Amino acid sequence: MTDTNLTAILYKKGDIKLEDKPIPEPGPGEVQLCMQQVGICGSDVHYWQHGSIGDFVVKAPMILGHEASALVSKLGEGVTTLKVGDRVAIEPGVPCRTCHYCKSGRYNLCADMKFCATPPYDGNLSRFYVHAADFCFKLPDNVSFEEGALLEPLSVGVHACNRGGVTLGSRVLICGAGPIGLVNLLTARANGASEVCITDIDESRLEVAKTLGATYTLKVTSRDPQEVAKQVENIMGDKAEITIECSGATPSIQTAIYATQSGGCVVLVGLGQADVTMPIVNASVREVDIRGIFRYVNCYPTALAMVASGKVDVKPLITHRFSLEDSIKAFETTLRGEGIKVMIKCAR
Ligand code: NAD
Ligand code: ZN
Repeated sequence: MTDTNLTAILYKKGDIKLEDKPIPEPGPGEVQLCMQQVGICGSDVHYWQHGSIGDFVVKAPMILGHEASALVSKLGEGVTTLKVGDRVAIEPGVPCRTCHYCKSGRYNLCADMKFCATPPYDGNLSRFYVHAADFCFKLPDNVSFEEGALLEPLSVGVHACNRGGVTLGSRVLICGAGPIGLVNLLTARANGASEVCITDIDESRLEVAKTLGATYTLKVTSRDPQEVAKQVENIMGDKAEITIECSGATPSIQTAIYATQSGGCVVLVGLGQADVTMPIVNASVREVDIRGIFRYVNCYPTALAMVASGKVDVKPLITHRFSLEDSIKAFETTLRGEGIKVMIKCAR
């Protein structure tokens, strides 16, 4: 352990600095965490490159990072569920706990959500960080800190598959084989999907998808969504029952609808253009449900159980590793689109 608090701060668009900050003290119900592993997410890179995502604008310096695991280093007043030395995964969004959405169990929709590295809230790409104890999940000995950090994107897969109703025997199409498409692939397989077809425009990502258990892959070359849907149908022998769109690309969203069977479901995970033209009449007259997802809700325990039991192996997603000191290099690597998941080791 160290007694300085090196921290990766986004000052403004294009400007990340590493600085020593004071070590934060845990308040009531909180724990101080000695950060271990933080994965870089596309949103971290987007804030760095563009200074905003939709209505979320970086107006003041913000600490980056939200896919994280840590070692508990101090307990705040009243914390009884954790002890110093516990290894934990950090669920990065802490909701208000009292509004209608929180009370009805859909806390991901809470308007007062404080989510790491979504402005104005700081993330945890630092040596020390403080978080609500009840949003820290104790890792069993057989789950590494890297795997603990990957519970964050894996939870997106768990939520998307839940929303789509992926279950035993499901025939699933996943559009986009980035980290989010791949965690959906892992989750769909673990849920018992009998066939998973995954698309991408990038052959190297499809190669990874094959090694992770994709039944079929399709390299998208046509800009015509109906043609791509036809190709999917030819590969799968029929339209998909459930399609999970994980690219955010407009033509891919259109393909998702055309490639889903009547009465099926399209889950929109990818976030691209704010306004997208979709074949909505086609979806309506075929009763194809279109469902959005926002992050995840009550999914960390499931994601952890999947990894701890060996049902899902997230380790192959990690392609690059950097130290906290080299955070900027890590961000540059992600920006270049190299590999899949870039991890930063925060502890010395
Ligand atoms: P990514 O950019 O690494 O992956 C997207 C993949 O889609 C890439 O591999 C890209 O080559 C592929 N692609 C692009 N155009 C395509 C097309 N026409 N057809 C098929 N594939 C195509 O991003 P990621 O980290 O995997 O995240 C995926 C999306 O999920 C992003 O839009 C992100 O914002 C979104 N996301 C949403 C939530 C949510 O809560 N809804 C949570 C996390 C991420
Ligand atoms: Zn709330």
